Amino acid sequence: MNMIPKVAMFGTGYVGLVSGVCIADFGINVICVDVDKEKIDGLNNGKIPIYEPGLDVFLERNIKAGRIQFTTDAKMAIEESNVLFIAVGTPPKENGEADMQYVYAVAETIGQYMNGYKVIVDKSTVPVGTGQVVKKIIADKLKERGVEYSFDVVSNPEFLREGKALYDFTHPDRVVIGVESEEVAEIMKKVYRPLYINETPFVITNIETAEMIKYASNAFLATKITFINEIANLCEKVGANVQQVAMAMGRDGRIGPKFLHAGPGFGGSCFPKDTKALVQIAEKHGVQMSVVNAVIEANERQKKMVAEKLEKFAGDLKGKTIGILGLAFKPETDDVREAPALTIIADLIERGASIRAYDPQAMEEAKKALRKYADNITYCKHAYDTAESVDALVIVTEWHEFRNMDLTLLKKIMRGNIFYDARNIYSRKDIEEKGFVFIGTGV
Ligand code: NAD
Repeated sequence: MNMIPKVAMFGTGYVGLVSGVCIADFGINVICVDVDKEKIDGLNNGKIPIYEPGLDVFLERNIKAGRIQFTTDAKMAIEESNVLFIAVGTPPKENGEADMQYVYAVAETIGQYMNGYKVIVDKSTVPVGTGQVVKKIIADKLKERGVEYSFDVVSNPEFLREGKALYDFTHPDRVVIGVESEEVAEIMKKVYRPLYINETPFVITNIETAEMIKYASNAFLATKITFINEIANLCEKVGANVQQVAMAMGRDGRIGPKFLHAGPGFGGSCFPKDTKALVQIAEKHGVQMSVVNAVIEANERQKKMVAEKLEKFAGDLKGKTIGILGLAFKPETDDVREAPALTIIADLIERGASIRAYDPQAMEEAKKALRKYADNITYCKHAYDTAESVDALVIVTEWHEFRNMDLTLLKKIMRGNIFYDARNIYSRKDIEEKGFVFIGTGV
């Protein structure tokens, strides 16, 4: 099919906005659509709704080149485009299942306004089988309208990491494309042509396999983190050092060094929800996911351990003040969805502590997420402000600005002497030399 891709991107969140901007940077015209009018108005006035390093530069370049526009007008976007990406949220429902209402709503809208052949590409992380449901929703809508247009559905899961999203999108380890025909795979390769020329591996599968690859990848990474966290817990008891264990393990080519950093448990908008969703999908099909189930359980325990360990060293937390450095689920993002800091802060407050907290980018998001605990939290201006008169200071997220703090100054500012480095960015020796009681994770 000799088609020049013109892209519509539904959803301008972490994935949709980055994908839209990067695809525009590939030289393709992109129309980004969102139902959130405030977000679209903001984008049209140069206001980027998320913190993602480099996004401003990419965005400006593509706005100047006239390759990207932002709108709430779904009809216009559908009519003007031939490759329609769905990149809306698939948040977890109460029972862990993925909430598909936003994906289905976009499918309905596409069926409603389709005016010719379209390729509909699902980039959201969705349960296996969603491609077929999307196909049916669109087909039913076309029937209802009494029109006949052909279309194809593609699964193209996204693997970018927040904080490194632009690099990841433009330098992926692989591009996964689930299709039902060779011709559609060729259209998708045109969208990703700059990568194709650079010989990024393209994994072309059926739709179901592509959908499964995403869940399997995230569940595996969550397992790797959880595995090293449990080894860290054991290291603490037996006098071993998890960083050395992980380093030596990682040198084994069969294991690999990444995702072997012990910490306070994984968080974010993907691993917690995708592990739970995978368990739900498996349950529906009568298949046991015992490893993934254990990972979910162990990760909850890991987050709870922070307050328990603090209590062990600081005694009863009632009336104590704890400083929390880092609220985002990882550095270089303002995303606090399922961030360990939220659980840790709630736990500490439930145990009677007051909190002083700071994050370089995620203060606004954290304030919203922790609204319930507002009376017990003082939001601070920087790390040293956070340390003011606290009994213990806890590094929850390893932002660069927390990596080289003036320890002598901190010691002076703090009331107590407990330094809890949940991310192992300091050495026990350096901290203890300054007169602190050091708590780490498996070191
Ligand atoms: P997000 O919540 O940041 O953004 C979703 C956006 O979709 C919002 O702006 C919302 O207003 C918009 N939206 C909702 N309904 C819409 C509609 N009918 N039409 C147009 N826009 C609509 O979500 P996200 O973090 O970007 O995640 C999107 C998907 O990508 C999820 O399935 C997620 O699992 C997956 N994913 C996320 C990441 C990540 O790091 N955040 C990485 C890989 C995959």
